[in-house]
Parts: sequence; structure tokens; C-alpha cells
Amino acid sequence: MTASQAQEPGSGPAPARRTFDSLNPATGQPIATFPLYSRADAEVAVSRAREAARWWAGLSWAERRSRLLDWKSFLTRHMDELAELMHVETGKPADDATLEIVLAILHVDWAARHARKVLGPRRVLPGIAALNQSATVEYQPLGVVGVIGPWNYPVFTPMGSIVYAIAAGNAVIFKPSELTPAVGEWLVRSFDEVAGRGAPEPVLQLLTGGGETGAALAASPVDKIAFTGSAATARKVMVIAAANLTPVIAECGGKDALIVDADADLNAAADAAAWGALSNAGQTCVGIERVYVADPVYETFLAKLADRVSRLRPGSDEDADYGPMTMPGQIDVISRHLADAVARGGRALPGRAEDAVDAPYVRPVILTDVPEDAVAVTEETFGPTITVRRVANLEEGIQLANASRYGLGSSIFSGSRRRARAAARQLHSGMTAINSVIAFAMVPALPFGGVDESGFGRIHGADGLREFTRAKSITSQWMKPPVNLTSFGRTDADLKRTVKLVTLLHGRRGRQARP
Ligand code: NAD
Repeated sequence: MTASQAQEPGSGPAPARRTFDSLNPATGQPIATFPLYSRADAEVAVSRAREAARWWAGLSWAERRSRLLDWKSFLTRHMDELAELMHVETGKPADDATLEIVLAILHVDWAARHARKVLGPRRVLPGIAALNQSATVEYQPLGVVGVIGPWNYPVFTPMGSIVYAIAAGNAVIFKPSELTPAVGEWLVRSFDEVAGRGAPEPVLQLLTGGGETGAALAASPVDKIAFTGSAATARKVMVIAAANLTPVIAECGGKDALIVDADADLNAAADAAAWGALSNAGQTCVGIERVYVADPVYETFLAKLADRVSRLRPGSDEDADYGPMTMPGQIDVISRHLADAVARGGRALPGRAEDAVDAPYVRPVILTDVPEDAVAVTEETFGPTITVRRVANLEEGIQLANASRYGLGSSIFSGSRRRARAAARQLHSGMTAINSVIAFAMVPALPFGGVDESGFGRIHGADGLREFTRAKSITSQWMKPPVNLTSFGRTDADLKRTVKLVTLLHGRRGRQARP
């Protein structure tokens, strides 16, 4: 698909006058040109989406499921085409792009198959005060959801919001990152062609542009904004959305830690740390940026990690382990973190930190002996670098891992899964993988999201479906009440009998009776 097709009716609002180019980060060459949509365009998109939302929500669960599964099948059959486009637009190796699409496909499948069960009407116990009522709760779509996405995982990340919002019965307006509009356009067009057949307006619309367009979407009368990006931008989005009391989900950055226990499988831990930190050139929100290793195994672990890392090479050829930095400006952040770490006594492995940057590529760097208050430890680096620190034991590892203002994911490698599970509960992060990295993102049923500066709200799983709905509670009286408490006809004796019953059930100390 080409950018010019993006402007045909059905895949976005009418073209705006101003445009921008999407560039190949490895060559700097333009890939395609896209409209820079404005505030007025966002408003038009919302009114079109309102009509689409009414139509989509009016379909049966089975019909929505079947259309989403058709889209899943299309994505699966056209995986190579999309992976190649992702490779060209982000620089990531096509194999990594393929893995990203595979994970997104699993989420489309899960959301399509579980929406009805999670969101459809279900009975709840009415309780003692309402024994004459039947009570049900169901989760209704919000209407129109605005999704603002990042560039680092341009399929997996926004799909975590798009797919769950659509499966829940909403229409979506998608503002992809200005660095990956072609991938965004491909997703929107494929949905339109495969799953949106017969819609009066597109159920999934594309709104291309930069920060201004994102701000326009946040200011428009959408029913929720699902934002993924940096915490700094999330703050701006929340300020804008506050004017309309529009709720926001914020999926922000991280500084994920991996802790290596004294009895861990060190080969597995070193392998996972290398991949978790360096795949996708370290441009991963749940990438490993810090490693804390128990004292007895520190030297052995470090040697194993250095050995693996020394064999990795960035490039854009087929054999490269990871690609160029997708966003040129990130190289300045990485350079600043490396320089500060070295100035503060840090050591770099396998080569010199000063030689790491060869724009648009950055060679992998392991940093040791870096103080915990250095920016390489406290701020998101988003590059192929990793800090490794010796700790006394698992407990000190947890303490240092938690001393971060981020809390997205984390990992623990330990010989005892029981000890690791207890440690996982103590880690102040939304997700923890034991004896692996990032596994939680591969389980569609598990909610994905962070705490503190890493954001709030959840995508994926049942929580991810409910995130794009409002709970609707319904009671239905099937029998006249023995005592009518909600009537001016209520007598003193009625109330006394009720208080007596409640006191009997709830007034005792110790073991409580079931209501
Ligand atoms: P970013 O914050 O620069 O931009 C994110 C999106 O917001 C882009 O589409 C951008 O155009 C838009 N935007 C910029 N200014 C805006 C404004 N004022 N109002 C509304 N929208 C605006 O982030 P990025 O560089 O695209 O992505 C990298 C960041 O995303 C990293 O911090 C990374 O950790 C995070 N991330 C988080 C997750 C997660 O699920 N938690 C996933 C991927 C990336």
C-alpha cells in the first residue's frame, strides 16, 4: 500500500494542505508523504467516528468477532509485506518486525474471542437488602477512542489499544507516531478493507501528523484517549484532555531492572539480559536497562554477558542483530548518558563508550560501576546500553530496582521459583517475568501497563477490554419486597426489623457471617 492511497475516502478525513515525509532511518531517504492533520480535521474525524461507532456497536458480538478474526487472518497472510514496511520505516530487522506482528496477531485473536465473555451481561448476587431483585452488570462501549501511538513498536503497541477498543464495540481514531505513519496507514487500510465492510463511516480512522495533531485529537470530543509514549508527553495530553474531562490511559516509558539471584541459571540470565537490553536497538519500553547481580555470581555473569554482547552488531543488512536508531535525536540522549556514566567512574564493556556512536547506529555498551544516581541509571536511555551492578543478595536487588521513578516491567532470574515469585510481588512494577524477559507481553490474557512515571491504566486481557467500556448496572425487581425500604410508606417497625437483621449478620466481632 502507498501513502497516496491513504488519502482515498474511507481511510481518513479529507486531506489537509500541509504534509510531512516519513523517512527511512538507515538512509534518511523519504518513504512516503502524509497529511499533517489539524484541529478541524480531528473534529471531523470524531463526528464520522460517532456514526461508525453506532453502527459497529449495533452489530452482534458474533459479527464483530468474525470481522476481527478475518482481519487477524489477513494480517497473518500479509505478515511479510507489513514486516518489510516496518523494516524500512523503523530500521528494525525484518525478523524482529515479524515477531512483533505475530504477537499483535495473538492479541487480535484473544480480544475477538473473549470480548463477549468479559463484557457481556452477567448476573451478580443481589445481597440481603435486595433479595427481591435480579442484578446484572454489563460493559458498554465508550463510543469513540483516540489512540496516540509511538514509533518503537508501531504495530504491537498501538494494536494493544486499537484491537481491544474495537473488540469492545468502539470506533477508533489512530494518530500514529510521525516517524511511522506508513505502518499506521497499512493497519488502518487493511482493517477498513477486511473488517469494516459496509460501515457508513470507517470504524478505524487514520489521523497522521506530529505532536500538534496528537494535541488536536486529545482536545477533540473523543470519549477516551489511549496514549503511549513518554511521560513528558503524557502530562501534556492529560492537561489538554482535562478541559473536556476526557479520561486518559497512559502507557509510558520504563527503566526495567533484571535481578540475578545467586543460584540463577547464568547462561539463561546473560542471554535474556542481552536480548532484553539490546534488541530493537534498546528502543523498547519494557527493555532491560539495569541489571543487579548477586555478589557470588557477579563476575561469572558479567563475563557471560560481555561474551554475548561482543558478538552483536548493528546494521541494516540481513545479518545485523539490530538496526539504526529510529529517532535521530535519541543518539544525543544515549551519548549524554554514556559520557556522564564514564565521567562518574563507570567502566564500559566490550569497547570504549566514546566509540559507541556511529550514527545512525550505536554499538552495544555494558556499563559497570556506575553510581545509582547517574542518569544512565535513573533516566530512560532507550538505546543499546545496559548498566550492571553487584548487589549483596536478592533483597538488595529488589531495593535498588524499586528505587526508580519508573515501574513498567521487571525480571528475576533465580533457581527458586518460589523465592522469585515472592520477590516479584515486592517489585514495584506493573509486570514481572521470572526466568525470562518480556514474557508477560506474549500472554494476551495478562494486563499490560505500569505504575508511577510508567503510567496507568491497562491494555491487553480482560482489564484491557474493560478499559474501553463503561460498566452498566441493571436491577430488575421480580418480587414485591417483604419490607419496602425505598418508600415513604416504610414504617418504624420495618426499619427496626432491618437493623436487627443487619446487626445479627454484621455486628459480631471476629469471624463474620456470609451476607
Ligand atoms: P513521544 O511522547 O515523543 O510521542 C508519542 C506520541 O505522542 C507520538 O504520536 C507523538 O506525535 C505524540 N505527541 C507528541 N506531542 C504531543 C502532544 N503535545 N499532545 C498529544 N500528542 C503528542 O514518545 P515516542 O518517542 O514516540 O515513544 C517513545 C516513548 O514511548 C518511550 O518513553 C517509550 O518507553 C514509550 N513507550 C511505552 C510503551 C508502553 O506500552 N508503556 C510502549 C512503547 C513505547
